[in-house]
Amino acid sequence: MKDKLGSIETKAIHAGEPRPRIAGAVVMPVFQSATYQYAGEKSYDDVRYIRLNNTPNHLALAEKLAALENAEDAVVTASGMAAISTSLLTFLRQGDHLLAQDCLYGGTHDFVTRDIKEFGISYDFIDGSEPESWKRNLKPTTKVIYVETISNPLMQVPDLEAVVSFAKSHGLVSMIDNTFASPVNFRPLEMGFDLSLHSATKYLNGHSDIVAGAVIGKSNLIEKVTHKLNHLGGSLDPHAAFLLHRGIKTLALRVKQHNESALQIAHFLEKHRAVARVNYPGLENHPNHERAKRLFDGFGGMMSFELHDGVEGAESFMRAARLPAVAPSLGGVETLVTRPSLTSHSGLSPEDRRRLGISDGLIRLSVGIEATQDLIEDFEQALEGDAKRIPSHRSQARVPTYK
Ligand code: PLP
Repeated sequence: MKDKLGSIETKAIHAGEPRPRIAGAVVMPVFQSATYQYAGEKSYDDVRYIRLNNTPNHLALAEKLAALENAEDAVVTASGMAAISTSLLTFLRQGDHLLAQDCLYGGTHDFVTRDIKEFGISYDFIDGSEPESWKRNLKPTTKVIYVETISNPLMQVPDLEAVVSFAKSHGLVSMIDNTFASPVNFRPLEMGFDLSLHSATKYLNGHSDIVAGAVIGKSNLIEKVTHKLNHLGGSLDPHAAFLLHRGIKTLALRVKQHNESALQIAHFLEKHRAVARVNYPGLENHPNHERAKRLFDGFGGMMSFELHDGVEGAESFMRAARLPAVAPSLGGVETLVTRPSLTSHSGLSPEDRRRLGISDGLIRLSVGIEATQDLIEDFEQALEGDAKRIPSHRSQARVPTYK
């Protein structure tokens, strides 16, 4: 989508940049000042102070992020979880009810299942692919519907159009965690979502060297989130803001490479005899492939897969692979692998993980921007040991099964 600044590649570089440039600096400088001279501001939220999210670094970033998703406004936060928790607590009060997708990033899942009830807020989980079932859980007190563009770690794509129309017909605030897709592959506001949330720690920054978050949406909603954030205090430090700003400039280039490489790697893995199942929305046999193809500009750099050899196979693959670091998190230039049952989703009970289809042997892969062929060759040698252990009858039975 184009507007006066052009395509997303151009906006990543030029949107939000100060005009005229500050002291001629081509790069937005870091304003490492906690407080600013009083200039007659009338309201508390306008007094300039880092926690009030209104320093020059915050404002430049907010404008850039809003432009990337063709939204009215945005606010940056100290982490993805600050963006998520603050947004939920802005629109949910004591006695309110939340509808949330059943398979969520572990931190969000824990916040919903463990923390919000202490605020007197109740919730129900919904299957993102079954809009007919959502009404059963709707209550007069339901205020928010919450989903992820591509769910972590199974890469399911909920019925996003149905989420928007359900929210509109029942007067709910629709929130979507757009971290996995990034604004390059999907821009939720264009579809009618109210708020798009990001862990900017991941693709937006892209270099695995800061923790940050963002909320993008309509101005009136962003104003409310910002006022809540001002009180809760999850504000981004100026130096982290500077690094995020720098990272975003290469977002479009990076995500293009993530998309291309991940698709090739997913095809390689699905053909490998040691691999039992690959979850990647770019694969034609993925249950949400058609939806992803229609709605997204790319399928992203995230996938998960299981080996016939389960946990043992996963451990041996992760030990043998030379290029990826074994680490949680994602969306950086370097390839990372992790077992969600030990990291991002370790807070879920084993029964919940089983019910959602997250096996102990599931490997999550964040494909970096190394040369695709180098990654494939590395995975090939790392899977060798697994392939040798598989009896031939098992290696034939490779039909992926999806929940
Ligand atoms: N949303 C998703 C999809 C994530 O994967 C993560 C972290 O892994 C978060 C939110 C939380 O982000 P942060 O770690 O920046 O708080």
